[in-house]
This record gives sequence, C-alpha cells and structure tokens, in this order.
Amino acid sequence: LPPEFVAAQPVLKRLESAGFEAYFVGGSVRDMLLNKPIHDVDIASAAFPQEVKKQFDKTVDTGIQHGTVMVLDHGLGYEITTFRTESTYTDFRRPDAVTFVRNLSEDLQRRDFTINALAMTADGEIVDLFNGLADLSAGIIRAVGEAEVRFTEDALRMMRALRFSAQLGFDIESATRAALQRLAPNLEKIAVERIRVEWEKLLMGQQAATGVAMAVEDGVLRYVPGEMAQWPLADFIQDLAVGQAASPVVAWAHLLTRSSLDETAMQQFLRRWKTSREVIKAAIAVAPVAQAIDTSDQWVLYQVYPFKDILLDVLRLMRTEAAVITNIQAALTALPIHDVRALAIDGGTLIAQKICQPGPQMGRILKTIERAVVEGRLPNTASNLLAFAKELSQHDPS
Ligand code: ATP
Ligand code: MG
Repeated sequence: LPPEFVAAQPVLKRLESAGFEAYFVGGSVRDMLLNKPIHDVDIASAAFPQEVKKQFDKTVDTGIQHGTVMVLDHGLGYEITTFRTESTYTDFRRPDAVTFVRNLSEDLQRRDFTINALAMTADGEIVDLFNGLADLSAGIIRAVGEAEVRFTEDALRMMRALRFSAQLGFDIESATRAALQRLAPNLEKIAVERIRVEWEKLLMGQQAATGVAMAVEDGVLRYVPGEMAQWPLADFIQDLAVGQAASPVVAWAHLLTRSSLDETAMQQFLRRWKTSREVIKAAIAVAPVAQAIDTSDQWVLYQVYPFKDILLDVLRLMRTEAAVITNIQAALTALPIHDVRALAIDGGTLIAQKICQPGPQMGRILKTIERAVVEGRLPNTASNLLAFAKELSQHDPS
C-alpha cells in the first residue's frame, strides 16, 4: 500500500475495533489503482458522526450535517464520512436529505461513476460492486446505475464526467454520454462555484483538448456561464492537444487570450464565473498582452510585469516561437522590480512625509512612480521616489 494509506491504517483499525466497518473510498482508491499521486485519503464508515468523535481525541466538525468529521492523527487530517444515501432531489442539485446507513453498498451506490465507487479495506482489499475495476482498466467513465436518473438527481455529475474524462483521458460510456447530451440544460440550475471547480479541473487536465471538444459537441457550453458556445475554440483546443495549463489562473488567461472578447467583456466573463479577484487581475493583465504578442502588436512591459510567469505559461501554451518567448522572458526578468510591494515607498510613506492624503491623487502618484521604476527611469530608493512624489504632487493637486 502507498504510504498515504499506511499512515491512515490506524484510523480505520480504530473504528473497526470499536465495531464499525470502515473503508478507504473515492478518488484516493481510484488514483492509487491508476498509479497516480494520491491527494486526500477519504474514509467511509458505518459509525455515525457522534460515534466517530467518541473514538478519537482530536476531531473537527467539517460537515457534520452531511456525516463528515475530520479526524486529526499524527498531524494529518482524515475526513470520515458516515455511510449514507441521498434522497429526493427536487431541483437537479444537492439532495433534500441525507440518510445515514450502516452498510457500505448503499453508500457506494450513491456515488457518481463506477471508477469513483470503489472501496478498499485497511489491508488493501478492493471492494468493487459496480465493475469499477473493469472500467478503470478499460478507461471508461460510466455512471453508477441509470445515467439519466443520476444526472437528473444532480446535474453537476455531467460536468464531473467531462472533467474526469479530461483528467484521465477516459472515454465516456455511450449511455452515460447520451444522458449528458440530453440533460445538459439542467446545468443551468447548478451553482456557478460548483461548476467552476469542475471546469477548472477539466481545463487543466492532461486531455483537456478532448474534454473541451466534448463540452462543445454535447452542448454543455450553452448551459454554463459565459456564452462560450459562440466562441471559435479551435485554436484553444489545438493548444491543449499539445500543452497543459499548470494552474487555474493560467487556464483562464489562456482561454481569454484565445477569445475575441475586449477587456471589459473579459472582466464580465470572469465575474460571471465568480473567479477570485486575483484571477481576474492576472488574467485581465495577461490576456491582452498575450494577444498582442501573438499578433505582433504593440504592448508595454508595465501592463503585465507582475504576472511574468503566467504570461510565459500562456505563450508556451499558444506555441509562440521560442525566440520570442526567450526575449520576453529576458526583458521581464531584467526589470528592477516584479511587484508593486517592492517599491521603496508606499502610501503610508507619502502620508507620513505629508506629501499627500489617501485618495485618487495618491493613487495617481503611486502609479506614476511604479511605472517609472519598472521602466528604469527612476532608481528604486526612498529618497529618489520621495523627491519624485513631491514634484508630482505639486503638478497634480488633489
Ligand atoms: P479529486 O481527486 O479531484 O478530489 P475525487 O474522486 O476525490 O477526485 P471529489 O469531488 O473529492 O472527487 O469527491 C469524492 C468522492 O465523492 C468521489 O470519488 C465520488 O465517489 C463522490 N462524489 C463526489 N461528488 C459527487 C456527486 N456530485 N455525485 C455523486 N458522488 C459524488
Ligand atoms: Mg477528492
């Protein structure tokens, strides 16, 4: 057994010796069988949350209403979830109620795909009630039970099918795929945040090109934010056939670079996807510059200098000529600062020195200073910057 499981064995044994069945479940079992790195080791058990808590000294109620308790053991945390079923989905998302049960099979039955419905005992014996092992070795994503039923219960599972397909390079089994094509409109009912998690994982997948192509073909892009169904995505898909985005922000910046949105529309697009402010800031800085480089248009280092690594990743994905990338990398690396926080002064200094008060004027002054430093016209020392700021404040009254 991989060390991650060995470390967790005492937790399972503890539950078992108290009379509760307990298994490793979900992604960790799947990834172990695929020889992939293991993220979190999740545990499912017959013990109810209060019973789990009684067995361990340190626990955290991470999702007790869904049956999940986090157990801390030797500095590591394990989510222990009570075997449960989910019932009566009335709105195509999340169950109305979860019911705790005492047997594993009902728990595995509520899971989305056969490859995610495998369980493993503390000693490494696999429990395979839905032929997940066969699907794992054949490379198939197949719904547990009737795909139509499962996707009607929870539409997010359709995004998850595409995401696992993109991550693992698996095919989606034909009945599962047909159900996805028919029920894709139900994705409109799903919270953007949940869709975004799966979409980002899809975009970063090893086979993201196939995943995006399927999302287009199956109509999925009509029912997720951003109206991407209208976009010409051929170049984007082609990029992903050769390269892979290493982080969500690179994935978003790359997607926007390959879009024909203007800067305002880019911002609206990311807002609709509810991405973080950091992602918006970086992607909105990088995408227009990457577009300009791609079309040999003018751009300035200052526009993008804090996001050097993201820009370079996007350019590599776009298969920009190596010599061009090398030049840009050299220019960005040679800049005097790589972050506004590296300036020798900040707003606080300007106030302390009575040069200006907080407000729009201060913002303008700081921006002018930042640009002058980045572009090498002003050495980054406090005395230089303060002298320059004083002069600017006289020409730019508040
Ligand atoms: P990852 O490595 O990306 O975390 P994972 O398989 O662990 O993959 P999670 O989203 O962490 O995926 O979910 C853990 C497990 O819970 C899944 O393997 C699956 O068995 C079950 N599961 C998660 N989401 C759903 C869902 N919407 N419907 C049914 N089962 C689900
Ligand atoms: Mg997981």
